[in-house]
Amino acid sequence: MATNISTEQIIDELVTCTICFEHFDDPRVLPCSHTYCLKCIRGVAARNNSQFECPLRDGTILTTEQIPTLPFNRIALHIVEELKKCKFHFIFNSLYDSSDFI
Ligand SMILES: [Zn+2]
Ligand SMILES: [Zn+2]
Repeated sequence: MATNISTEQIIDELVTCTICFEHFDDPRVLPCSHTYCLKCIRGVAARNNSQFECPLRDGTILTTEQIPTLPFNRIALHIVEELKKCKFHFIFNSLYDSSDFI
């Protein structure tokens, strides 16, 4: 028996922001290589005297001026888009399958 962890779950975790626990929304890469949503980075900075500290406590600190210059994580965004398509596909298939059994 294989484990219950599917590739889809692994990918899902890869594109889930550890601040908001949602799929990335405008993912940005930090100098420590961690990725968070732009809105989450801004939100943390707003609550922390205009400073963003990486939630994984690896010593990465950014100021609000640095936040807009963070590079975009194109791969993460692409995966999020693909996952959305997969989910729609899955819903469509399950509807189709159930009607087939009636
Ligand atoms: Zn987020
Ligand atoms: Zn980090």
